[in-house]
Amino acid sequence: MATAVDVVCHMDVDVQENTPHADYEENRYYFCCTACQKAFEQNPEKYIK
Ligand SMILES: [Zn+2]
Repeated sequence: MATAVDVVCHMDVDVQENTPHADYEENRYYFCCTACQKAFEQNPEKYIK
């Protein structure tokens, strides 16, 4: 199973078909929950630094 790091809360998340995610520039980011996804989408630059 693939894992990714949620850039909003820094948790490790398991990457599955229904995992919340967002594409930004060339990258796909995965989140533990839709709240983190929404936070990222509102201000991606804040989190990818
Ligand atoms: Zn999170």
